[in-house]
Amino acid sequence: MKRRVLIVGGVAGGASCAARLRRLDEAAEIVVFERGPYVSFANCGLPYYVGNVIQDEAKLLLATPKLFRERFRIEVRTGAEVVAIERPAGTIRVQDAATGAVTTEHYDALVLAPGAAPIRPNWPGVDLPGVFTLRTVPDSRAIRAWIEEEKPATAVVVGGGFIGLEMAENLVHRGLAVTIVELAQQVMPPLDVEMAEYARQRLEAKGVKVVLGDAVVALEQAENGLRVQTQAGASFDTGVVVLAIGVRPETKLAAEAGLKLGARGGIEVNDQMQTSDARIWAIGDAVEVKHFVTGERGVIPLAGPANRQGRLVADVLCGRNAKFRGSQGTAVCGFFGFTVAMTGATEKALARGGATDFAAVYLHPGHHVGYYPGAKAIHLKLIFRCSDGRVLGAQAAGEEGVERRIDVIATVIQKQGTVFDLEEAELCYAPQYGGAKDPVNFAGMIAANVVRGDVELAPWNEVHDTDALLLDVREAAEFAAGRIDDAVNIPLGQLRDRLNELPADREIWVNCGVGQRAYYACRLLTQHGFRARNLSGGYRTYRVVYPGH
Ligand code: FAD
Repeated sequence: MKRRVLIVGGVAGGASCAARLRRLDEAAEIVVFERGPYVSFANCGLPYYVGNVIQDEAKLLLATPKLFRERFRIEVRTGAEVVAIERPAGTIRVQDAATGAVTTEHYDALVLAPGAAPIRPNWPGVDLPGVFTLRTVPDSRAIRAWIEEEKPATAVVVGGGFIGLEMAENLVHRGLAVTIVELAQQVMPPLDVEMAEYARQRLEAKGVKVVLGDAVVALEQAENGLRVQTQAGASFDTGVVVLAIGVRPETKLAAEAGLKLGARGGIEVNDQMQTSDARIWAIGDAVEVKHFVTGERGVIPLAGPANRQGRLVADVLCGRNAKFRGSQGTAVCGFFGFTVAMTGATEKALARGGATDFAAVYLHPGHHVGYYPGAKAIHLKLIFRCSDGRVLGAQAAGEEGVERRIDVIATVIQKQGTVFDLEEAELCYAPQYGGAKDPVNFAGMIAANVVRGDVELAPWNEVHDTDALLLDVREAAEFAAGRIDDAVNIPLGQLRDRLNELPADREIWVNCGVGQRAYYACRLLTQHGFRARNLSGGYRTYRVVYPGH
């Protein structure tokens, strides 16, 4: 008898699993149940459909039930919600959205790919017309319709994460004045705070009002639309509200069936994505995975891991010994011509996990050589283990070439590579694309200098509390235009002749514009017997670590 594999959820993880399974097993009966009206749609494209950058809704539909049937002999049932799993019987209960009728389906193997639902807190007024979340094609259609029919002049986006920022850009694109209200003291909470600062600056430069460290507590009907009230007592009158405060794994079905959930609220799975029931697998946003770098378990809701896990479960179902390596949270977000991207562990995640054997360097190289027109700075942070140089994470922001550098570093992290590998990486170069020393090479070299003991780093977060002498080696005019409080200025070119002005009994923390001259100064000073440390990334980093200064 042919094996019957049922899949719950027909988008990123579920559709990948179904299609791969057919490629490996021509005989299996594969049925996908999708609660919504579409399968395999481009959730990641939804903000751009709201913004009318993608104008044709049909472009969001990557595959149809017809295609699945004709090309793969996979049966896809849309408008079919799986409402219960009866594990002892090996059956599921499926409710038809149109008729309400419930049927029972037998499985030999069951794959759960139900995703995650946008968090919709029970604030007063949260269900008022004009308050939206974004997950499905109908959600995006509803926001578009509201914009076109109600013609709101302003929008409040609650939450400054990936979806919040993409929505902010797209609403501005539709002509709305946008305010983002974010609970954390930074936008893009997955990033380290100083790297998120670049994103905040770009948003504000484009006219988006960014309110940090404040929480929305209520919404109410106002004379001309909605009023959003915050904990700090602020209120914003607006025509539309988009809630983008994160997602919660869809675990109701799994929990009611008695499957084990993890401490972070996702479905617990092993490294083959198998749940606590040997006949049930789970993938995508609904599951908890191991972080590839920190080893911590958590929910990492991204399309790449969901797709890979779908493919992996198909392999496992066909007897292949595939194992999920974990997720490293490689992610990118673009808005207003600006890109922020990250991979691996952040400094705050490492610190939270109790790690101490790590350091971070900052650099601001051009995305291609400076002599070719149009070079744009990439603000790059590389985090690595001090003891052996293992690359732990990276974050970058800028207008051009950002995601390419993060992708290279992500691959090195996958291969458990070191800063020495980044130093040696041989990457594409021609003037309009990069440099003979690519930003990735530079990052590796700077970090390798630290690991090899050629230079010590000074911690930015102590710069205002240190007893060390703060020495700025930029030219006098640069120093006059902006400096770290209490720093003294001796330009690099004069340093050898003015060593007598420096203390032999105090550490000297050196900064320049972006870190390069300070590194030269540190090498010079240490060879003259001074205790010098480099403030990595220079004054450019200072300005984002201390935006108020
Ligand atoms: P989904 O793709 O969400 O699919 C789950 C499906 O299961 C849903 O269609 C749901 O209706 C269905 N379902 C749930 N319960 C049941 C049930 N009981 N019965 C039947 N069907 C059920 N990730 C990125 O990496 N990059 C991006 O740029 C990006 N942008 C995004 C933008 C938006 C607006 C959104 C919403 C998400 C974005 N993501 C992005 C996240 C990415 O879409 C998800 O990580 C990915 O889709 C997760 O795949 P999944 O299969 O786990 O869940």
